[in-house]
Amino acid sequence: MRAIPGKAGWLTVEYEVVIGLEIHAELATRSKIYCGCTTEFGGEPNTHCCPICTGMPGVLPVLNKTVVEYAVKAGLATNCTISSFSKQDRKNYFYPDLPKAFQTSQYDLPLCVNGYLEIEVDGKVKKVGITRIHIEEDAGKLIHDESDKSTFIDYNRCGVPLIEIVTEPDMCSSAEVKAFFEELKTILEYTSVSDCKMQEGSLRADVNLSVRPKGKKEFGTRTEMKNLNSVRAIVRAVDEESRRQITVLEQNGVIVQETRRWDDEEGKSYSMRGKEEAHDYRYFPEPDLTPIVVDEAWLDKIRSSIPELPGDRKKRYMTEYGIPVYDASLITGSKPLSDFFEAAANESKNVKVISNWIMGDVMKKLNDTGLEPSDIPFKPENLSKLVSLIDENVISGKIAKQVFELMWETGEDPADIVEKKGLKVVTDTDAIRSVIIQVISANPKSVEDYKSGKTKAMGFLVGQIMRETKGKAEPQTVNRLLQEELDKL
Ligand code: ADP
Ligand code: MG
Ligand code: ZN
Repeated sequence: MRAIPGKAGWLTVEYEVVIGLEIHAELATRSKIYCGCTTEFGGEPNTHCCPICTGMPGVLPVLNKTVVEYAVKAGLATNCTISSFSKQDRKNYFYPDLPKAFQTSQYDLPLCVNGYLEIEVDGKVKKVGITRIHIEEDAGKLIHDESDKSTFIDYNRCGVPLIEIVTEPDMCSSAEVKAFFEELKTILEYTSVSDCKMQEGSLRADVNLSVRPKGKKEFGTRTEMKNLNSVRAIVRAVDEESRRQITVLEQNGVIVQETRRWDDEEGKSYSMRGKEEAHDYRYFPEPDLTPIVVDEAWLDKIRSSIPELPGDRKKRYMTEYGIPVYDASLITGSKPLSDFFEAAANESKNVKVISNWIMGDVMKKLNDTGLEPSDIPFKPENLSKLVSLIDENVISGKIAKQVFELMWETGEDPADIVEKKGLKVVTDTDAIRSVIIQVISANPKSVEDYKSGKTKAMGFLVGQIMRETKGKAEPQTVNRLLQEELDKL
Protein backbone atom coordinates (compact mmCIF):
# COMPACT_ATOMS: atom_id res chain seq x y z
CA MET A 1 0.00 0.00 0.00
CA ARG A 2 1.13 3.51 -0.76
CA ALA A 3 -0.15 6.99 -0.12
CA ILE A 4 -1.99 8.72 -2.95
CA PRO A 5 0.28 11.53 -4.09
CA GLY A 6 -0.99 14.87 -2.89
CA LYS A 7 -4.11 13.52 -1.16
CA ALA A 8 -4.67 11.77 2.12
CA GLY A 9 -5.48 8.09 1.91
CA TRP A 10 -4.00 4.70 1.13
CA LEU A 11 -3.98 2.80 -2.10
CA THR A 12 -5.22 -0.76 -2.29
CA VAL A 13 -2.83 -1.46 -5.19
CA GLU A 14 0.11 0.31 -6.72
CA TYR A 15 -0.56 2.17 -9.93
CA GLU A 16 1.50 2.93 -12.96
CA VAL A 17 0.97 6.05 -15.02
CA VAL A 18 1.09 5.85 -18.84
CA ILE A 19 1.59 8.99 -20.91
CA GLY A 20 1.78 9.75 -24.62
CA LEU A 21 2.20 13.23 -26.07
CA GLU A 22 0.96 14.93 -29.21
CA ILE A 23 3.10 18.00 -29.78
CA HIS A 24 2.36 20.76 -32.26
CA ALA A 25 5.24 22.92 -33.44
CA GLU A 26 4.82 25.87 -35.75
CA LEU A 27 7.42 25.74 -38.48
CA ALA A 28 9.77 28.69 -38.92
CA THR A 29 8.95 29.18 -42.60
CA ARG A 30 8.41 32.74 -43.79
CA SER A 31 5.20 31.99 -45.63
CA LYS A 32 2.20 29.81 -44.86
CA ILE A 33 1.73 26.20 -45.89
CA TYR A 34 -0.47 26.68 -49.01
CA CYS A 35 -0.19 30.39 -49.89
CA GLY A 36 2.30 33.25 -49.83
CA CYS A 37 0.91 34.98 -46.72
CA THR A 38 3.39 35.79 -43.98
CA THR A 39 3.65 33.61 -40.88
CA GLU A 40 4.86 36.55 -38.79
CA PHE A 41 3.43 36.57 -35.27
CA GLY A 42 0.99 39.33 -34.30
CA GLY A 43 -0.16 42.00 -36.73
CA GLU A 44 -3.58 43.64 -36.96
CA PRO A 45 -6.27 40.92 -37.06
CA ASN A 46 -6.94 39.51 -40.54
CA THR A 47 -4.03 41.30 -42.22
CA HIS A 48 -1.95 38.12 -42.77
CA CYS A 49 -4.49 36.19 -44.81
CA CYS A 50 -5.89 35.69 -48.28
CA PRO A 51 -8.65 33.70 -50.01
CA ILE A 52 -6.51 30.53 -49.93
CA CYS A 53 -5.69 30.39 -46.23
CA THR A 54 -9.19 31.48 -45.23
CA GLY A 55 -10.55 28.67 -47.39
CA MET A 56 -12.72 30.55 -49.88
CA PRO A 57 -14.48 28.35 -52.44
CA GLY A 58 -12.66 27.65 -55.69
CA VAL A 59 -9.10 28.42 -54.55
CA LEU A 60 -6.15 26.12 -55.20
CA PRO A 61 -3.60 25.44 -52.47
CA VAL A 62 0.07 24.87 -53.38
CA LEU A 63 2.30 23.12 -50.88
CA ASN A 64 5.26 25.15 -49.54
CA LYS A 65 8.38 23.06 -50.23
CA THR A 66 10.20 24.37 -47.16
CA VAL A 67 7.46 22.90 -44.99
CA VAL A 68 8.38 19.43 -46.23
CA GLU A 69 12.09 20.13 -45.74
CA TYR A 70 11.60 21.32 -42.16
CA ALA A 71 9.36 18.38 -41.30
CA VAL A 72 11.87 15.93 -42.77
CA LYS A 73 14.65 17.66 -40.83
CA ALA A 74 12.67 17.20 -37.62
CA GLY A 75 12.11 13.56 -38.55
CA LEU A 76 15.77 12.86 -39.25
CA ALA A 77 16.84 14.60 -36.04
CA THR A 78 14.46 12.38 -34.06
CA ASN A 79 15.56 9.11 -35.66
CA CYS A 80 12.46 8.67 -37.82
CA THR A 81 12.13 6.84 -41.10
CA ILE A 82 11.17 9.30 -43.81
CA SER A 83 8.42 8.12 -46.12
CA SER A 84 9.39 8.42 -49.76
CA PHE A 85 5.69 8.66 -50.56
CA SER A 86 3.14 10.36 -48.36
CA LYS A 87 -0.07 12.26 -48.92
CA GLN A 88 -2.26 14.91 -47.42
CA ASP A 89 -5.79 14.37 -46.20
CA ARG A 90 -8.84 16.38 -45.30
CA LYS A 91 -9.90 16.17 -41.71
CA ASN A 92 -13.46 17.42 -41.74
CA TYR A 93 -14.92 19.41 -38.93
CA PHE A 94 -16.70 22.68 -38.71
CA TYR A 95 -15.21 25.32 -36.54
CA PRO A 96 -15.66 29.07 -36.95
CA ASP A 97 -11.90 29.69 -36.90
CA LEU A 98 -11.54 27.23 -39.75
CA PRO A 99 -14.02 28.54 -42.34
CA LYS A 100 -13.21 25.91 -44.93
CA ALA A 101 -14.67 23.41 -42.46
CA PHE A 102 -11.76 21.04 -42.92
CA GLN A 103 -8.13 21.01 -41.90
CA THR A 104 -5.53 19.75 -44.33
CA SER A 105 -3.44 17.22 -42.44
CA GLN A 106 -1.96 13.78 -43.00
CA TYR A 107 -3.83 10.66 -42.00
CA ASP A 108 -2.64 7.16 -42.93
CA LEU A 109 0.58 8.06 -44.76
CA PRO A 110 2.48 10.59 -42.64
CA LEU A 111 5.82 12.03 -43.70
CA CYS A 112 7.89 10.55 -40.84
CA VAL A 113 7.40 7.37 -38.81
CA ASN A 114 9.05 5.18 -36.17
CA GLY A 115 11.46 7.53 -34.48
CA TYR A 116 12.64 7.86 -30.92
CA LEU A 117 14.49 10.11 -28.52
CA GLU A 118 16.63 9.11 -25.61
CA ILE A 119 15.93 10.77 -22.31
CA GLU A 120 17.73 10.58 -19.00
CA VAL A 121 15.91 10.80 -15.68
CA ASP A 122 17.63 10.14 -12.35
CA GLY A 123 20.61 8.69 -14.19
CA LYS A 124 18.45 6.20 -16.09
CA VAL A 125 18.45 6.36 -19.87
CA LYS A 126 15.20 5.50 -21.64
CA LYS A 127 14.02 5.47 -25.23
CA VAL A 128 10.72 7.17 -25.94
CA GLY A 129 9.19 6.11 -29.23
CA ILE A 130 7.89 8.60 -31.78
CA THR A 131 5.00 7.08 -33.66
CA ARG A 132 4.82 9.67 -36.42
CA ILE A 133 5.41 13.25 -37.49
CA HIS A 134 3.01 14.75 -39.97
CA ILE A 135 2.47 18.19 -41.48
CA GLU A 136 -0.75 20.16 -41.18
CA GLU A 137 -2.09 23.69 -41.07
CA ASP A 138 -2.93 25.76 -38.02
CA ALA A 139 -6.38 27.24 -37.45
CA GLY A 140 -7.37 30.85 -36.76
CA LYS A 141 -8.29 32.31 -33.42
CA LEU A 142 -11.61 33.15 -31.78
CA ILE A 143 -12.01 35.76 -29.09
CA HIS A 144 -15.30 35.57 -27.25
CA ASP A 145 -16.45 38.85 -25.81
CA GLU A 146 -18.83 38.05 -22.98
CA SER A 147 -19.79 41.69 -22.44
CA ASP A 148 -21.69 42.10 -25.70
CA LYS A 149 -22.09 38.42 -26.54
CA SER A 150 -20.02 38.69 -29.68
CA THR A 151 -17.12 36.71 -31.06
CA PHE A 152 -14.15 38.12 -32.93
CA ILE A 153 -12.27 36.10 -35.50
CA ASP A 154 -8.62 36.53 -36.44
CA TYR A 155 -7.44 34.43 -39.39
CA ASN A 156 -3.78 35.49 -39.17
CA ARG A 157 -2.65 32.09 -37.81
CA CYS A 158 -4.88 30.16 -40.21
CA GLY A 159 -2.65 28.21 -42.62
CA VAL A 160 0.56 28.61 -40.61
CA PRO A 161 2.44 25.31 -41.09
CA LEU A 162 2.66 22.88 -38.19
CA ILE A 163 4.21 19.56 -37.55
CA GLU A 164 2.43 17.23 -35.17
CA ILE A 165 4.74 14.86 -33.33
CA VAL A 166 2.97 11.87 -31.79
CA THR A 167 4.78 9.75 -29.24
CA GLU A 168 4.22 6.17 -28.16
CA PRO A 169 2.68 5.82 -24.70
CA ASP A 170 6.19 5.27 -23.31
CA MET A 171 6.44 7.81 -20.51
CA CYS A 172 5.37 7.13 -16.93
CA SER A 173 6.02 10.28 -14.89
CA SER A 174 6.02 14.05 -15.17
CA ALA A 175 9.82 13.97 -14.90
CA GLU A 176 10.02 11.78 -18.01
CA VAL A 177 7.54 13.96 -19.86
CA LYS A 178 9.55 17.06 -18.97
CA ALA A 179 12.80 15.46 -20.08
CA PHE A 180 11.30 14.33 -23.39
CA PHE A 181 9.62 17.62 -24.11
CA GLU A 182 12.75 19.65 -23.35
CA GLU A 183 14.94 17.36 -25.44
CA LEU A 184 12.54 17.66 -28.37
CA LYS A 185 12.31 21.44 -27.98
CA THR A 186 16.09 21.80 -28.04
CA ILE A 187 16.32 19.65 -31.17
CA LEU A 188 13.69 21.76 -32.94
CA GLU A 189 15.65 24.87 -31.94
CA TYR A 190 19.01 23.49 -33.07
CA THR A 191 17.63 22.48 -36.43
CA SER A 192 15.82 25.87 -36.71
CA VAL A 193 12.67 23.97 -37.61
CA SER A 194 10.63 26.03 -35.14
CA ASP A 195 11.31 29.07 -32.97
CA CYS A 196 9.59 27.11 -30.16
CA LYS A 197 8.26 30.28 -28.54
CA MET A 198 5.73 28.72 -26.20
CA GLN A 199 4.37 32.10 -25.11
CA GLU A 200 3.41 32.73 -28.75
CA GLY A 201 1.89 29.28 -29.13
CA SER A 202 4.67 28.06 -31.44
CA LEU A 203 5.02 24.92 -29.39
CA ARG A 204 2.22 23.25 -27.45
CA ALA A 205 1.47 19.79 -26.17
CA ASP A 206 -1.55 17.54 -25.70
CA VAL A 207 -1.14 15.14 -22.82
CA ASN A 208 -2.76 11.69 -23.10
CA LEU A 209 -2.73 9.90 -19.77
CA SER A 210 -4.04 6.72 -18.24
CA VAL A 211 -3.27 4.69 -15.14
CA ARG A 212 -3.27 0.95 -14.54
CA PRO A 213 -2.49 -1.33 -11.62
CA LYS A 214 1.21 -2.06 -11.64
CA GLY A 215 2.04 -5.21 -13.59
CA LYS A 216 -1.18 -5.19 -15.59
CA LYS A 217 -0.68 -5.55 -19.36
CA GLU A 218 -3.69 -3.68 -20.76
CA PHE A 219 -3.75 0.08 -20.72
CA GLY A 220 -6.35 1.92 -18.72
CA THR A 221 -8.79 4.38 -20.32
CA ARG A 222 -7.04 7.61 -21.22
CA THR A 223 -7.98 11.24 -21.07
CA GLU A 224 -6.51 14.00 -23.16
CA MET A 225 -5.61 17.54 -22.10
CA LYS A 226 -5.06 19.83 -25.07
CA ASN A 227 -2.82 22.79 -25.87
CA LEU A 228 -0.63 23.06 -22.79
CA ASN A 229 1.73 25.92 -23.45
CA SER A 230 4.42 25.84 -20.80
CA VAL A 231 6.63 23.12 -19.37
CA ARG A 232 5.36 24.00 -15.93
CA ALA A 233 1.74 23.52 -17.02
CA ILE A 234 2.58 20.16 -18.62
CA VAL A 235 4.26 18.91 -15.46
CA ARG A 236 1.45 20.09 -13.22
CA ALA A 237 -1.23 18.69 -15.51
CA VAL A 238 0.45 15.26 -15.55
CA ASP A 239 0.79 15.14 -11.77
CA GLU A 240 -2.74 16.31 -11.11
CA GLU A 241 -4.37 14.05 -13.72
CA SER A 242 -2.46 11.02 -12.40
CA ARG A 243 -3.73 11.79 -8.93
CA ARG A 244 -7.29 12.37 -10.14
CA GLN A 245 -7.48 9.11 -12.09
CA ILE A 246 -6.01 7.05 -9.26
CA THR A 247 -8.49 8.59 -6.85
CA VAL A 248 -11.42 7.76 -9.15
CA LEU A 249 -10.27 4.14 -9.50
CA GLU A 250 -9.70 3.81 -5.78
CA GLN A 251 -13.28 4.90 -5.18
CA ASN A 252 -14.44 2.22 -7.62
CA GLY A 253 -15.28 4.82 -10.24
CA VAL A 254 -14.60 4.58 -13.98
CA ILE A 255 -12.40 6.81 -16.09
CA VAL A 256 -14.30 8.27 -19.04
CA GLN A 257 -12.42 8.65 -22.31
CA GLU A 258 -12.67 12.38 -22.85
CA THR A 259 -10.96 15.64 -23.64
CA ARG A 260 -10.29 17.72 -20.54
CA ARG A 261 -9.37 21.37 -20.28
CA TRP A 262 -6.42 22.12 -18.01
CA ASP A 263 -6.82 25.32 -16.00
CA ASP A 264 -3.29 26.22 -14.97
CA GLU A 265 -4.38 28.98 -12.62
CA GLU A 266 -6.58 26.63 -10.62
CA GLY A 267 -4.30 23.65 -11.06
CA LYS A 268 -7.32 21.54 -12.08
CA SER A 269 -8.76 20.04 -15.23
CA TYR A 270 -12.37 20.05 -16.36
CA SER A 271 -14.27 17.71 -18.62
CA MET A 272 -14.86 19.35 -22.01
CA ARG A 273 -16.24 16.77 -24.36
CA GLY A 274 -16.24 13.10 -25.19
CA LYS A 275 -13.22 12.06 -27.22
CA GLU A 276 -13.76 12.06 -30.96
CA GLU A 277 -12.61 9.04 -32.98
CA ALA A 278 -10.85 9.14 -36.33
CA HIS A 279 -14.03 8.11 -38.15
CA ASP A 280 -15.80 11.19 -36.79
CA TYR A 281 -13.61 13.29 -39.07
CA ARG A 282 -14.43 11.51 -42.34
CA TYR A 283 -10.84 11.74 -43.49
CA PHE A 284 -10.29 11.50 -47.22
CA PRO A 285 -7.30 12.16 -49.52
CA GLU A 286 -6.98 15.85 -50.33
CA PRO A 287 -8.00 16.13 -53.98
CA ASP A 288 -6.34 19.54 -54.53
CA LEU A 289 -2.83 18.45 -53.54
CA THR A 290 -0.53 15.93 -55.13
CA PRO A 291 1.24 13.25 -53.04
CA ILE A 292 4.58 14.19 -51.48
CA VAL A 293 7.53 12.33 -52.95
CA VAL A 294 10.88 12.61 -51.18
CA ASP A 295 13.63 11.00 -53.26
CA GLU A 296 17.11 9.99 -52.06
CA ALA A 297 18.82 13.07 -53.51
CA TRP A 298 16.46 15.45 -51.73
CA LEU A 299 16.72 13.45 -48.54
CA ASP A 300 20.53 13.60 -48.65
CA LYS A 301 20.44 17.31 -49.19
CA ILE A 302 18.18 17.81 -46.19
CA ARG A 303 20.28 15.42 -44.11
CA SER A 304 23.43 17.39 -44.84
CA SER A 305 21.78 20.61 -43.63
CA ILE A 306 21.29 19.24 -40.11
CA PRO A 307 23.76 20.86 -37.70
CA GLU A 308 25.42 19.20 -34.73
CA LEU A 309 22.59 18.23 -32.36
CA PRO A 310 22.52 18.98 -28.62
CA GLY A 311 23.34 15.41 -27.57
CA ASP A 312 26.48 15.35 -29.70
CA ARG A 313 27.49 18.81 -28.57
CA LYS A 314 27.11 17.79 -24.95
CA LYS A 315 29.38 14.78 -25.45
CA ARG A 316 31.94 16.94 -27.23
CA TYR A 317 31.99 19.51 -24.41
CA MET A 318 32.65 16.74 -21.93
CA THR A 319 35.38 14.94 -23.87
CA GLU A 320 37.05 17.85 -25.64
CA TYR A 321 36.78 20.55 -23.00
CA GLY A 322 36.50 18.45 -19.83
CA ILE A 323 33.28 20.15 -18.78
CA PRO A 324 31.19 18.27 -16.17
CA VAL A 325 28.02 16.55 -17.41
CA TYR A 326 25.73 18.89 -15.49
CA ASP A 327 27.31 22.02 -16.95
CA ALA A 328 27.43 20.53 -20.45
CA SER A 329 23.71 19.61 -20.28
CA LEU A 330 22.73 23.01 -19.04
CA ILE A 331 24.71 24.93 -21.64
CA THR A 332 23.66 22.75 -24.59
CA GLY A 333 20.05 22.78 -23.32
CA SER A 334 19.70 26.22 -24.93
CA LYS A 335 20.97 26.77 -28.47
CA PRO A 336 21.57 30.51 -28.06
CA LEU A 337 23.50 29.90 -24.83
CA SER A 338 25.48 27.09 -26.39
CA ASP A 339 26.27 29.22 -29.45
CA PHE A 340 27.37 32.04 -27.16
CA PHE A 341 29.64 29.65 -25.28
CA GLU A 342 31.09 28.25 -28.53
CA ALA A 343 31.84 31.72 -29.86
CA ALA A 344 33.52 32.75 -26.61
CA ALA A 345 35.41 29.44 -26.37
CA ASN A 346 36.70 29.75 -29.93
CA GLU A 347 38.46 32.97 -29.00
CA SER A 348 39.90 31.65 -25.77
CA LYS A 349 42.67 29.44 -24.48
CA ASN A 350 40.79 28.91 -21.26
CA VAL A 351 37.57 27.15 -22.25
CA LYS A 352 36.88 25.68 -18.82
CA VAL A 353 37.01 29.16 -17.28
CA ILE A 354 34.62 30.47 -19.95
CA SER A 355 32.15 27.74 -19.02
CA ASN A 356 32.51 28.67 -15.36
CA TRP A 357 31.61 32.27 -16.14
CA ILE A 358 28.58 31.09 -18.10
CA MET A 359 27.45 28.70 -15.37
CA GLY A 360 28.01 31.31 -12.68
CA ASP A 361 27.76 35.00 -13.49
CA VAL A 362 25.93 34.79 -16.82
CA MET A 363 23.28 32.35 -15.55
CA LYS A 364 22.79 34.41 -12.42
CA LYS A 365 22.28 37.57 -14.45
CA LEU A 366 19.80 35.81 -16.74
CA ASN A 367 17.86 34.54 -13.75
CA ASP A 368 17.88 37.91 -11.98
CA THR A 369 16.82 39.89 -15.04
CA GLY A 370 14.48 37.32 -16.59
CA LEU A 371 16.30 37.72 -19.90
CA GLU A 372 16.75 34.88 -22.38
CA PRO A 373 20.23 33.65 -23.44
CA SER A 374 19.61 35.27 -26.83
CA ASP A 375 19.44 38.65 -25.02
CA ILE A 376 22.89 38.58 -23.39
CA PRO A 377 23.86 42.24 -23.78
CA PHE A 378 27.51 41.81 -24.73
CA LYS A 379 29.34 39.93 -27.46
CA PRO A 380 30.79 36.47 -26.75
CA GLU A 381 34.30 37.60 -27.67
CA ASN A 382 34.09 40.17 -24.87
CA LEU A 383 33.75 37.35 -22.37
CA SER A 384 36.92 35.74 -23.76
CA LYS A 385 38.65 39.13 -23.55
CA LEU A 386 37.61 39.46 -19.91
CA VAL A 387 39.07 36.04 -19.15
CA SER A 388 42.33 36.95 -20.93
CA LEU A 389 42.56 40.18 -18.91
CA ILE A 390 42.53 38.06 -15.75
CA ASP A 391 44.95 35.48 -17.20
CA GLU A 392 47.39 38.19 -18.25
CA ASN A 393 47.17 39.74 -14.82
CA VAL A 394 45.84 43.04 -16.17
CA ILE A 395 42.97 42.88 -13.68
CA SER A 396 42.29 40.81 -10.59
CA GLY A 397 39.52 38.24 -10.37
CA LYS A 398 37.68 40.54 -8.01
CA ILE A 399 37.87 43.53 -10.33
CA ALA A 400 36.73 41.24 -13.16
CA LYS A 401 33.36 40.92 -11.42
CA GLN A 402 33.02 44.72 -11.55
CA VAL A 403 34.01 44.76 -15.21
CA PHE A 404 31.47 42.03 -15.91
CA GLU A 405 28.72 44.14 -14.35
CA LEU A 406 29.71 47.08 -16.56
CA MET A 407 29.85 44.86 -19.63
CA TRP A 408 26.32 43.72 -18.88
CA GLU A 409 25.16 47.32 -18.48
CA THR A 410 26.91 48.86 -21.46
CA GLY A 411 27.92 46.02 -23.78
CA GLU A 412 31.36 47.65 -24.00
CA ASP A 413 34.69 45.96 -24.60
CA PRO A 414 36.19 44.99 -21.22
CA ALA A 415 39.61 46.40 -22.15
CA ASP A 416 37.97 49.80 -22.78
CA ILE A 417 36.09 49.59 -19.49
CA VAL A 418 39.31 48.79 -17.60
CA GLU A 419 41.08 51.67 -19.31
CA LYS A 420 38.31 54.19 -18.78
CA LYS A 421 37.63 53.31 -15.16
CA GLY A 422 41.32 52.88 -14.30
CA LEU A 423 40.85 49.34 -13.04
CA LYS A 424 44.23 47.93 -14.01
CA VAL A 425 46.19 45.98 -11.46
CA VAL A 426 48.79 48.17 -9.76
CA THR A 427 52.17 46.44 -9.88
CA ASP A 428 54.20 49.59 -9.36
CA THR A 429 56.16 48.67 -6.21
CA ASP A 430 56.86 52.27 -5.18
CA ALA A 431 53.19 53.14 -5.27
CA ILE A 432 52.23 50.01 -3.36
CA ARG A 433 55.00 50.50 -0.82
CA SER A 434 53.89 54.04 -0.05
CA VAL A 435 50.34 52.79 0.65
CA ILE A 436 51.79 50.05 2.88
CA ILE A 437 53.78 52.53 4.92
CA GLN A 438 50.70 54.68 5.29
CA VAL A 439 48.56 51.73 6.44
CA ILE A 440 51.24 50.57 8.89
CA SER A 441 51.44 53.96 10.55
CA ALA A 442 47.66 54.25 10.74
CA ASN A 443 47.26 50.84 12.43
CA PRO A 444 49.86 50.60 15.24
CA LYS A 445 47.66 48.19 17.21
CA SER A 446 47.58 45.62 14.42
CA VAL A 447 51.30 45.93 13.87
CA GLU A 448 51.86 45.29 17.58
CA ASP A 449 49.53 42.27 17.44
CA TYR A 450 51.45 40.91 14.51
CA LYS A 451 54.78 41.40 16.25
CA SER A 452 53.48 39.53 19.31
CA GLY A 453 52.71 36.50 17.16
CA LYS A 454 49.10 37.12 16.12
CA THR A 455 49.61 36.33 12.44
CA LYS A 456 45.95 37.05 11.70
CA ALA A 457 46.76 40.75 12.01
CA MET A 458 48.62 40.50 8.72
CA GLY A 459 45.39 39.63 6.95
CA PHE A 460 43.75 42.70 8.39
CA LEU A 461 46.57 44.91 7.13
CA VAL A 462 46.38 43.36 3.65
CA GLY A 463 42.66 44.09 3.67
CA GLN A 464 43.33 47.74 4.53
CA ILE A 465 45.90 48.04 1.74
CA MET A 466 43.53 46.49 -0.79
CA ARG A 467 40.85 48.92 0.37
CA GLU A 468 43.15 51.88 -0.08
CA THR A 469 44.03 50.73 -3.60
CA LYS A 470 40.38 49.90 -4.41
CA GLY A 471 41.29 46.25 -4.92
CA LYS A 472 43.71 47.05 -7.69
CA ALA A 473 47.05 46.31 -5.99
CA GLU A 474 48.50 43.04 -7.12
CA PRO A 475 48.07 40.68 -4.13
CA GLN A 476 51.46 38.89 -4.35
CA THR A 477 53.32 42.18 -4.44
CA VAL A 478 51.29 43.49 -1.51
CA ASN A 479 52.10 40.40 0.57
CA ARG A 480 55.77 40.50 -0.27
CA LEU A 481 56.25 44.21 0.39
CA LEU A 482 54.17 44.19 3.55
CA GLN A 483 56.28 41.35 4.92
CA GLU A 484 59.41 43.35 4.12
CA GLU A 485 58.13 46.47 5.81
CA LEU A 486 56.97 44.58 8.91
CA ASP A 487 60.32 42.82 9.17
CA LYS A 488 62.05 46.19 9.16
CA LEU A 489 60.16 47.27 12.29
P1 ADP B 1 -5.79 10.63 -31.29
O1 ADP B 1 -5.65 11.32 -30.00
O2 ADP B 1 -5.69 11.60 -32.41
O3 ADP B 1 -6.97 9.76 -31.35
P2 ADP B 1 -4.03 8.28 -30.98
O4 ADP B 1 -5.14 7.39 -30.65
O5 ADP B 1 -3.05 7.76 -31.97
O6 ADP B 1 -4.51 9.70 -31.53
O7 ADP B 1 -3.25 8.59 -29.64
C1 ADP B 1 -2.69 9.78 -29.37
C2 ADP B 1 -1.75 9.72 -28.20
O8 ADP B 1 -2.29 9.02 -27.10
C3 ADP B 1 -0.44 9.05 -28.49
O9 ADP B 1 0.58 9.89 -28.02
C4 ADP B 1 -0.47 7.76 -27.71
O10 ADP B 1 0.81 7.40 -27.28
C5 ADP B 1 -1.34 8.13 -26.56
N1 ADP B 1 -2.07 7.01 -25.96
C6 ADP B 1 -2.79 6.08 -26.59
N2 ADP B 1 -3.35 5.24 -25.71
C7 ADP B 1 -2.99 5.66 -24.47
C8 ADP B 1 -3.26 5.22 -23.14
N3 ADP B 1 -4.05 4.19 -22.89
N4 ADP B 1 -2.71 5.91 -22.14
C9 ADP B 1 -1.93 6.97 -22.37
N5 ADP B 1 -1.65 7.44 -23.59
C10 ADP B 1 -2.17 6.80 -24.63
MG1 MG C 1 -5.24 13.34 -29.72
ZN1 ZN D 1 -3.00 33.25 -47.39
